[in-house]
Amino acid sequence: MSDTKRVFNFNPGPAILPLEVLQQAQAEMLDFKGTGMSVMEISHRSKEFEGVIQTAEADLRELLGIPANYKVMFLQGGAHLQFAMIPMNLRASGSADYIVTGTWSKTAVKEAQKLGATRIAASTESEGFKGFPEKLDLDPKAAYLHFTSNETIHGVEYFSEPTPPAGVPLVCDASSDFISHPIDVSKYALIYGGAQKNAGPSGVTIVIARDDMIARTPANLPVMLDYKIMAESGSLHNTPPCFAIYIVGLVFQWAKKQGGLTAIEKTNRAKADLVYKAIDESGGFYRGHAKPEARSRMNIPFRLPSEELEETFTKEAKKNDLIGLKGHRSVGGMRASLYNAMTVDGAQALVNFMKEFQKKNG
Ligand SMILES: *Cc1c(COP(=O)(O)O)cnc(C)c1O
Repeated sequence: MSDTKRVFNFNPGPAILPLEVLQQAQAEMLDFKGTGMSVMEISHRSKEFEGVIQTAEADLRELLGIPANYKVMFLQGGAHLQFAMIPMNLRASGSADYIVTGTWSKTAVKEAQKLGATRIAASTESEGFKGFPEKLDLDPKAAYLHFTSNETIHGVEYFSEPTPPAGVPLVCDASSDFISHPIDVSKYALIYGGAQKNAGPSGVTIVIARDDMIARTPANLPVMLDYKIMAESGSLHNTPPCFAIYIVGLVFQWAKKQGGLTAIEKTNRAKADLVYKAIDESGGFYRGHAKPEARSRMNIPFRLPSEELEETFTKEAKKNDLIGLKGHRSVGGMRASLYNAMTVDGAQALVNFMKEFQKKNG
């Protein structure tokens, strides 16, 4: 293992995983817990897999402090399927409100619109998705209020939840800042996130839903779209993404070993501060996308003085084993994703490279 090449991985998703998790998966690959089989080769109804999924859920409950009146589901279809499942299960014949702060919340709206009444409570699109909306136009009768806690492409993160009108459930796409800091779950009615940013490999989406949300599920939904069936079966109505759930479980154990979400948040803050400081002290050579008060700890999009320099930056960074820094085409430039598994050393390596690059090209 010691001479295996590992790079500094700033990919936006699928993304970096903790080395310890990969090593444990490697060690258990051929013989999972004395079964003589890998976890991919055993029944999802075996007691070994039951242990995997139940431990993953218990660890997540502990990490996030999930109250007893919430269900945890491990579903397929990515965050994209949740864009459809949420309105299908929660909206009935009512209308739902959405706050649009970037590409992902905009995508969620588009899916919801196909299926029924959808209102945009606020949008920052005309300002280029750089921060939070100043005012929300909220429907006091909305079936729910949806927001995206971290916009992965625009690098805009909410540091406290928007407040819905009394009685309106708050629904959150937390795909890219899932388990990256403590939250008060009781403020939410439903939280979802694709695992492949912060919590594991692609293929599993974690949905945390309050019991009264699950009770809203209308009759006659296709089973794979039905929260009630998925929750009541413990995500085992059909064959779940067993391997992805196993890795997510290892990530949860790793997160607990780091000292839980308070400790993880502290490290995430430190990593993001390093990079934002380098941007702010570059005299305008590097320009961040988001407004300072909305700067994401997870994804840092930034521009250089020209597209040529941005291309050179990407190439030279790669030569220095700094991978995945090219920004999304809609924003352009660079993007550094600093998910939980990125080390402070990795963030520092990026900062050192940024300074060197500016010296040579500034
Ligand atoms: C990546 C991402 C998505 C899309 O996730 P899929 O699992 O690919 O559907 C949705 N929302 C946010 C915030 C994301 O970062």
